[in-house]
Amino acid sequence: MRILVSNDDGVHSPGIYALAKVAQTYGDVRVVAPDVEQSAMSHAITVRRPLHYAVQKLDGLEAYKVDGTPADCVALGAHHWDKVDLVLTGINLGLNIGHNIWHSGTVAAAKQASFLGIPAIAFSAPAIEGDVDYAVYEPYLKQVLDLFLAHPDLPLLNVNFPDEPKGLRWTKMSVRHYEGYVIPGEDPMGRTHYWFAEEPRERVEEDTDRWAIEQGYVSLTPLRLDLTDERRLAAAHAAAPV
Ligand code: MN
Repeated sequence: MRILVSNDDGVHSPGIYALAKVAQTYGDVRVVAPDVEQSAMSHAITVRRPLHYAVQKLDGLEAYKVDGTPADCVALGAHHWDKVDLVLTGINLGLNIGHNIWHSGTVAAAKQASFLGIPAIAFSAPAIEGDVDYAVYEPYLKQVLDLFLAHPDLPLLNVNFPDEPKGLRWTKMSVRHYEGYVIPGEDPMGRTHYWFAEEPRERVEEDTDRWAIEQGYVSLTPLRLDLTDERRLAAAHAAAPV
């Protein structure tokens, strides 16, 4: 099995190394990741300048770096390696739950694989100061991979680890729980500038990704590329036939 591993934190992230090492127990692994951090780049692609794909030294792994976005990396990785069976992205240094799924480069890299018809899983874990002990996640990572490989009808999966996992839960995206807001400040030259900040604002809905993480479960959310609102489409057809 050919497993392409990417991320948005960059090729030097400890998270991608941990993920690639576990992936090696399942098949041939190739890492293709951004040369610098590309977090919150979402599904951006590079179209106004050429991209470069270069060998990157990474202990015990075949790896390449790309001077582009996470989606660029998966596109170039699939271009350079025939018949990739599976794309894994992460482990992101920070959760990708709720609205962050929209901003995430880690999830976008998995979505890019899905566009190309390759099954994909995005993995994310809480951002903490200092060294993360990825050994805690390893058994759950393997459980998710085994489950995913046994169910070919799950083409795109978003997985988030809590600090200390105690099991797996199927979840939905908690979009109602938006926590992004803008804080103005002043720079040393007296100019006003702005920071995007986050703070939980509402009660967490049960069975969502955020709920699972708060309960200590690994959150598994099946995603799809089709954004069509089927319910409203049917209602629109009924209310205003055109
Ligand atoms: Mn990131």
